[in-house]
Amino acid sequence: MAIEECSELVNALCKYRRGRNTDEDVITEIADVMIMAEQMAFIFGQEEVQKEKERKQLRLLDRIRKIQKEKHDGKGKD
Ligand SMILES: [Mg+2]
Repeated sequence: MAIEECSELVNALCKYRRGRNTDEDVITEIADVMIMAEQMAFIFGQEEVQKEKERKQLRLLDRIRKIQKEKHDGKGKD
C-alpha cells in the first residue's frame, strides 16, 4: 500500500513536470503519501522517526547556512 501510494506520487509528479497533471492531482497524491508515512511511522516508531526527521532538518539547515556563508564570503572577490 505504501509503495503503491509512493508510486502514484512519482507518476503524478512526472506528469506534472510534462504539463499533463494539475496541482490538485499532485496535492491528492501528496496527501496519500503523508497518510501512509504517518501510518508507517506508527508501525516503525514515531519517536525514532521524529528524531531522524529533526536530525535531517538540522543537517539541511547547516548545509544552507554553509552555502550562504560561502556566497557571503565570496562577495567582493574578482
Ligand atoms: Mg494515491
